[in-house]
Amino acid sequence: MTSGVRPGPEQPPSTRIDPSVPHPARRYDYWLGGKDNFAADRRSGDAVAAAYPAIRTTVIENRRFMRRATRYLAATAGLRQFLDIGTGIPTSPNMHEVAQEIAPGSRVAYVDNDPIVLAHARALLTSAPQGATAYVDADLRDPERILGHPDVRATIDLDRPVGLMLVAILHFLTDADDPYGITRRLVEALPSGSHVVISHATTDLVPREVAATAAPVTTTSMIDMAFRTRDEFAAFFDGLELVSPGITPVTEWRPDVPPEHRTSVAQASMYAAVARKP
Ligand code: SAH
Repeated sequence: MTSGVRPGPEQPPSTRIDPSVPHPARRYDYWLGGKDNFAADRRSGDAVAAAYPAIRTTVIENRRFMRRATRYLAATAGLRQFLDIGTGIPTSPNMHEVAQEIAPGSRVAYVDNDPIVLAHARALLTSAPQGATAYVDADLRDPERILGHPDVRATIDLDRPVGLMLVAILHFLTDADDPYGITRRLVEALPSGSHVVISHATTDLVPREVAATAAPVTTTSMIDMAFRTRDEFAAFFDGLELVSPGITPVTEWRPDVPPEHRTSVAQASMYAAVARKP
């Protein structure tokens, strides 16, 4: 583990900014073509791209999945409040913009542990006047702090169904972090009718020779990642009802373009699913 990459959940933001150490949010921003990244983030991003050139396509497709899933939650499931953990650096349209386009009264609590995302929090707080947004600087590994945070509580009523977004974040938790226990704890706090949205990196969907380079690359890229198999991904949804079409590659979850215009599965190697709490 590289200490700067995984600051303790309680470390204050002012002591956490270290441009020499790559961070997931800034590296993701680099892959998306954003400007909020440092040389270390670009080096890390390039190391991954050298082994898996499709990484840029993957993050674009992941972001598209986030938007389709949000539209499903707002338009079809009728949800009006969302807890988005691992928000990322603002990239328009952001989650609240997608939800509020469908239901302007939607309320979104954003949570991230990256100080650069915190620096952009104001951009995430431009809610439609009928709705609300909040930004909470917290760590997924401390779910009690997230659930008890006054700004989360002021934005979200935990007695009414919530859309829990864990989009491209759980692969930053190793098994030692207990990602399944953390997800279970978050879901436990939500009422029936709540939904969970997860996307997650996997090496299942790429050719074996590409998969073989994935583990060493997480070392040279200085950001630890846990690639998980389909079964390991499915375990996040234990006790929940998967929404049709179930677990799919990120490009294939309720796609809004015809097959001939869709990115190939190997070019976007992440699993995705949405599930309802019964
Ligand atoms: N959900 C967004 C961004 C994904 S990038 C999207 O799919 O487009 C992953 C985000 O998770 C980054 O912003 C990173 O800072 C955040 N993150 C990683 N580990 C985290 C942790 N332990 N707690 C909170 N946020 C974390």
